[in-house]
Amino acid sequence: MTMRETVQDLLPGVLADLEALVAVESVSADRARADQLQLSAARVVELLTEVGCPDARIVTAGGGPAVIGHFPAPPGQPTVCLYAHHDVQPQGDPARWDTPPFVATTVGDRLYGRGSSDDKGGFAVHLAALRAFGGRPPVGVTVFVEGEEEVGSPTLAALMAEHRDELAADVFVITDSTNWTVGVPAFTTSLRGLADCVVELRTLDHAVHSGEFGGAAPDALTAMCRLLATLHDDAGNVAVAGLHTGRPSVLDYPEERLREESGLLPGVDWIGSGPLADRIWTKPALAVIALDTTRVASASNTLIPSARAKISMRLAPGDDARSALDKLSAHLVDHAPWGAQVEVTEGDTGEPSVINSTGPYAAAARAAFAEAWGVVPASVGQGGSIPMVADFAAAFPDATILVTAVSDPDSRPHGANESLHLGDFAAACLAEALMLQAFAEIAP
Ligand SMILES: [Zn+2]
Repeated sequence: MTMRETVQDLLPGVLADLEALVAVESVSADRARADQLQLSAARVVELLTEVGCPDARIVTAGGGPAVIGHFPAPPGQPTVCLYAHHDVQPQGDPARWDTPPFVATTVGDRLYGRGSSDDKGGFAVHLAALRAFGGRPPVGVTVFVEGEEEVGSPTLAALMAEHRDELAADVFVITDSTNWTVGVPAFTTSLRGLADCVVELRTLDHAVHSGEFGGAAPDALTAMCRLLATLHDDAGNVAVAGLHTGRPSVLDYPEERLREESGLLPGVDWIGSGPLADRIWTKPALAVIALDTTRVASASNTLIPSARAKISMRLAPGDDARSALDKLSAHLVDHAPWGAQVEVTEGDTGEPSVINSTGPYAAAARAAFAEAWGVVPASVGQGGSIPMVADFAAAFPDATILVTAVSDPDSRPHGANESLHLGDFAAACLAEALMLQAFAEIAP
């Protein structure tokens, strides 16, 4: 039987197991569902044990339960670590779902349900590849399934330090990104980082009558608007000095596609300059994501004494999150209009990544993906952030890291009606099996 036929035959069973995993409400952000998170980790252990893993078990470093299991390397063979996460985002407003979020439901060529693509679908790909070899893969395989990715992997670095020897591998396959389109797989080669802060601005020690003092005393909200306006130049490029810009993308992002995906309204201009792919993947971006001030319904004719804004920054691949956040803080303090008092509280950071996708393993992976999907895989950046990729790169600097996907641009991970494209899922399972086979031809 060819590998294609083998994978085709085992898909119904893998999909049934994925459906059962979707039914477990492993929402890592919800303490009330901690038992469900534990249950989904236990189910992952069972599935790995069933396929022949001798030592699959739950591990934690004080955070969400992760699972590690090993399929020992045949003599002289490399070891591949297959990553996914079993925790999911909250379902949000159930009314926005067309099918129940935790009941996997097939409609047309898609399987709907929370986690169907992000990232229980990623784990299901690993499971399919292991089953394709009857649980005896031709290379060593370590399966690492995290349980807290959707809350920012707070204890991942500790977990990796504690289990360093167990996780060490020649290749890491991180199946948690997005393919280029339905039918076209992608390897993600860069990821932006993330940093945020809250800026508080004060001009008066209490609200005062706008008739008596307006015209001489500045109100804090107008001052805040002027401050926020300094974050971009007139063309919409980020104006904070010293932020890094990554290398230009090799792929261009079709404008029509971006217009449709973003929901940009007619007549609204894009901001920034250069190719669109660079603006969303390799340059920094800034957005004001919240503002605390007087509500319109409670407005009175007073000068507002203080206001707060939360600013979210996406960092170019190659930048350093802490130093970028320091530059943003300095910009906000330096540009305080009219001598207003400005105080910045720095928030969370996640490092960007430039993923080195050269070398024999990456080449073999590309060839395997091309064979399985019938098209050449794309190399894409991601405007979003997967900080754990940087954690892996830092912990294992000599390993090849491959960031793959089961999601497509219509999968809506994190949103309502999350789904998995079944044709792409089948191709991803075959691609991973062929890839493991190809890795067995490469000396570690
Ligand atoms: Zn994910």
